[in-house]
Amino acid sequence: MAIAIFEHDNNQLAEIVAILQEGGHFDAFSTNNLAKLRDAMNIDGGTNVVMRVQVNLLILDLDDGPEALDLLRQLKTDVRYKDVPVIVTSEYDFDQQVRTAYVYGASDFIRKPLNKSEAKARIHASLRLNHEIDRRKARENEITEIANQLRDLTQVLMKLSLIDQLTGVANRRAFDQTLEQEFKRSRRNRQPLSILLFDVDHFKFFNDTYGHQAGDLCLRRVAQEVLNTIKRPGDMLARFGGEEFSIILPDTDVSGAKVIAQRVLAGIAALNIRHEHNSAAPCVTVSVGAATYLGSDPNSETKGLVGLADQLLYAAKKAGRNRVQSGALDEQVVIPPKAS
Ligand code: GH3
Ligand code: MG
Ligand code: MG
Repeated sequence: MAIAIFEHDNNQLAEIVAILQEGGHFDAFSTNNLAKLRDAMNIDGGTNVVMRVQVNLLILDLDDGPEALDLLRQLKTDVRYKDVPVIVTSEYDFDQQVRTAYVYGASDFIRKPLNKSEAKARIHASLRLNHEIDRRKARENEITEIANQLRDLTQVLMKLSLIDQLTGVANRRAFDQTLEQEFKRSRRNRQPLSILLFDVDHFKFFNDTYGHQAGDLCLRRVAQEVLNTIKRPGDMLARFGGEEFSIILPDTDVSGAKVIAQRVLAGIAALNIRHEHNSAAPCVTVSVGAATYLGSDPNSETKGLVGLADQLLYAAKKAGRNRVQSGALDEQVVIPPKAS
């Protein structure tokens, strides 16, 4: 522990140094010249400069003029020194300048001439205080570091998780996993499986007109509405990406998929979210591609089903939006949409 001492009176200075040495502190920096102390502590070199001497305690004589108080005030606004305890000394009683020193941040006052055992006890207590402060700071840094790590980890976990953060429904990763399982089951049992891929119409215009936040809220409301539309426990709604969603409908054939798709269309239109630049309606609408795997072709894969749903969605957009286009994978038949 390094101690810095400024004492204008050489006899007193020698006495303080002797007291410190009796206490085992041989690494003190002592001076009777305040300018030398400022220089050693690099006070005027800017707060970014590394201190020339490591100071854990400063013993500061107030009796040689107001410069000592100025130094104290400066130290307490310097990040390098603001937590270093400062014991002020004076030949005078607890007077105005000692009071000022306390206001500036002094941690203790010792009256001169020094009483040896009292001075030793006080110096020891101040050093312990400094040690505690250092420990606390190190602990705080550790906690901040752990908090940062936890924040990063949470972000990674969220990415790996199966929930879409914006809408709270399943995300693309969950969709891919579930579709894979359902597809295998459908192939094994030779049961139909449908997916609906739907996309908000002219959503770019919506964002451009009402703002991105309104766009986010719209996506949440659409997701919530569709969640209410799908009833069977095996059905799953997922955010496919951007303003596209997908529904997995196990054991559902072409006509069943169309029924659900029409319900989705009607439910979203009924939300009546104003969208003045939608060519299909004055409110938010979606277009749906409804693709069905009949369970009959053992060579079919999920990729083909998603690809078909995508083509059908594109066809629904081309046909005027706010409508469903459906078809079956095994037959590669695209059933023309009903005029709406
Ligand atoms: P179309 O009817 O052909 O689908 O037209 P569109 O404007 O919906 O399609 P486009 O692909 O041109 O634009 C999609 C828009 O969706 C652009 C993008 O900024 C917006 N979008 C995607 N994800 C989000 C989101 O999470 N929040 C918001 N607010 N907007 C999103
Ligand atoms: Mg899109
Ligand atoms: Mg769109």
